[in-house]
Amino acid sequence: MSGVNQEYIVISGARENNLKNVSLRIPKRKITIFTGVSGSGKSSIVFDTIAAESTRLLNENFSMFVRTFLPRYPQPDADAIENLSMAVIVDQKRLGGGSHSTMGTITDIAPILRLLFSRVGQPYVGQAHMFSFNDPQGMCPECNGIGRKLGVDMSKAVDMSKSLNEGAIMLPDYKVDSWDWTMIVQSGSFDADKKLSDYTDEEFEELLYGKARKVKMDFAGKATNITVEGVIEKFTNKYIKQDVKTKSERTQKAVAPYINEGPCPSCHGARLSQAALSCKINGQGIAEMSSMEVGQLIRSIREIDDPVAAPIVGSLTERLQHLVDIGLDYLTLDRETDTLSGGESQRVKMVKHLSGSLVDVTYIFDEPSVGLHPRDVHRLNELLQKLRDKGNTVIVVEHDPDVIKVADHIVDVGPHAGNRGGSIVYEGSYQGLLESGTLTGSHMKRPLQLKLDCRQPSDKLSIKDATLHNLQNVTVDIPTGVLTVVTGVAGSGKSTLINEFFLSQHTDAIVIDQSAVGVSTRSNPATYTGIMDDVRKAFASENKVNQGLFSFNSKGACENCQGLGVVYTDLAFLDSVKLPCEVCGGKRFKEEVLAYKLNGKSIAEVLEMTVEQALDFFQLKEVVRKLQALHDVGLNYITLGQPLSTLSGGECQRIKLASELHKKGSIYVMDEPTTGLHMSDIGHLLGIMNRLVDAGNTVIVIEHNLEVISQADWIIDMGPDGGSKGGQVVFEGTPSQIIHAKQSITGRYLLPSSS
Ligand code: ADP
Ligand code: ADP
Ligand code: ZN
Ligand code: ZN
Repeated sequence: MSGVNQEYIVISGARENNLKNVSLRIPKRKITIFTGVSGSGKSSIVFDTIAAESTRLLNENFSMFVRTFLPRYPQPDADAIENLSMAVIVDQKRLGGGSHSTMGTITDIAPILRLLFSRVGQPYVGQAHMFSFNDPQGMCPECNGIGRKLGVDMSKAVDMSKSLNEGAIMLPDYKVDSWDWTMIVQSGSFDADKKLSDYTDEEFEELLYGKARKVKMDFAGKATNITVEGVIEKFTNKYIKQDVKTKSERTQKAVAPYINEGPCPSCHGARLSQAALSCKINGQGIAEMSSMEVGQLIRSIREIDDPVAAPIVGSLTERLQHLVDIGLDYLTLDRETDTLSGGESQRVKMVKHLSGSLVDVTYIFDEPSVGLHPRDVHRLNELLQKLRDKGNTVIVVEHDPDVIKVADHIVDVGPHAGNRGGSIVYEGSYQGLLESGTLTGSHMKRPLQLKLDCRQPSDKLSIKDATLHNLQNVTVDIPTGVLTVVTGVAGSGKSTLINEFFLSQHTDAIVIDQSAVGVSTRSNPATYTGIMDDVRKAFASENKVNQGLFSFNSKGACENCQGLGVVYTDLAFLDSVKLPCEVCGGKRFKEEVLAYKLNGKSIAEVLEMTVEQALDFFQLKEVVRKLQALHDVGLNYITLGQPLSTLSGGECQRIKLASELHKKGSIYVMDEPTTGLHMSDIGHLLGIMNRLVDAGNTVIVIEHNLEVISQADWIIDMGPDGGSKGGQVVFEGTPSQIIHAKQSITGRYLLPSSS
């Protein structure tokens, strides 16, 4: 049992996906970083072999009885995997969870803050759940702890520049001469010729929010009692307080444009009952503290000097400090987790583990540097080191040279992607990697080149007085017809400026982001790019049969799995599990369909081809053009039939890019397109961006990657820091100018000496 091998996770003869009988040892309680070009097989080792085996072992811990109800996780394709400890995967999957999941709840900091208020807050309110918006006792009764409520969109409801007679009320029931309009005008309370902007506050309040009251009116010479009510009040009672879903579809459609979601009028978004909100520590309530940036909050907490609170203060500051350490000091505890980016989500998950007490765990990270500016990468490195020093094994898939540097051990997978990869080309220290002559090693040694011949813009797109989130009245021009890179530390406001503000004004821009592609489980690269249509036609004309046979949504599909190739089994208390279809063996089509061939290959065989193999196989012009686009974005290793759901965020982004490559005169917006790309693939990506610009397009890229920044025609640097300390443009200009700009942090990292 004992001996030197206990110090290593030992893998022998691994053959998942493209792995070529790989054997390796991963030192325990050390940081091991896997590098290599995209598609070389890093995930096949780390996720499909190591993590998969750990999950399977975990299952074996259940009793025989329980296991009969569980799926049988197949053993990863390897001869042996030894000395594995429990694996925890910290990935970039966004933290969903809806409005009841916040930074505070997900990091377990919120319950400690509540405990603090229940112990030392004044006046005394009660126990800790009184401060929880997820608890019936603590939640604001008006919004049930959601903090937001549906209300009337005032900008669409009234036109202040008009009088009632001119149609100042724009709500559907109040057209001039309608019944409701007549009641308001006839009530005698308002001057129907006066512009709303000239109303006194009292008049305006009465018009909009007046409570229902009886007014005697003269109708056809008969005095009648009519109920008059403020227009917003009435609309709210009729369409918002009652469930609008009970109304006819036509009514729902008519009123929907006038309804929006805003802060709850009772708790103003704080989600808590009035009693909880009025309880203070040093003059600050729990809602105020939850809306402070973590960097500020930690200072407020430290000021509490009540001996009763000392242990709670200690545990709060420890956890908050972890957030500061990982560069998330610009976030607030009340921030909803589903608004965090992938990189932010991953770092939040990391913090959760740091505060935990697990030891001898194998932590697996997938490109944790995503979203981090070079200035903050050292924070990530320190965190990885802390996890290691607690006695854990840390395994990281990473492309960032500054992270690779801290590895105790490096495994370089390659030499290329797909079939031309799947081997280990280097194992050892960082210094050794530099001298190894592998793609990774030689790229790490290459110095940055600053672009000198920057293109001249054809025109500009202006952003004026942007104030969303942390933006401080930003006015900036984006040049057209060139490659612009928007950069800056995390939280400085890049996404807010471009993805939210700019895109809301330029809705025709083509957004190439990392969100999942494909609407159904049947989508794959062939269907997404349209290659499948051409392939179906080719099979049909070659075999003189109906092309519908070659679609896995049709009669030709395997009946057992309905053309999915896998069968999903739902389990009550686990994620649903998919297993290969027993009838078609994953080939997705009926036997008779598989008998039809095109140049000797069946439709299933074509779908199993990689882009690279398909390029050799097909001569059809349209198919070749689409395949070439996939090749050009660095996806030559994916297979045509690989479900889109198996692609990473970065791969999704590049497949979108491939299918948009032929447009002209458009605005392209990309958010960290280097995600998942090896240093040697970045040249490729830059080539594509330059091709887009040369074809007359405007390309705007949010990036931290220094090579991409150094090759921009124009740089917009946001900062100076994150959150409330950011939100400004600190530099605009070319790469050769930014290195002289003292106010730009990014510029410092582009200096030749720093790389
Ligand atoms: P990396 O992590 O280095 O980018 P991967 O391990 O994801 O590389 O992929 C290695 C090879 O295995 C690629 O050719 C890829 O297309 C293939 N591959 C990965 N996952 C699957 C899958 N679920 N089905 C089929 N092929 C896959
Ligand atoms: P970057 O893209 O430079 O990392 P962001 O634009 O994401 O920065 O964030 C800028 C600021 O706006 C940060 O303080 C961030 O917490 C805040 N912010 C971003 N998105 C939201 C949101 N949906 N709700 C509230 N605050 C947000
Ligand atoms: Zn409320
Ligand atoms: Zn089947």
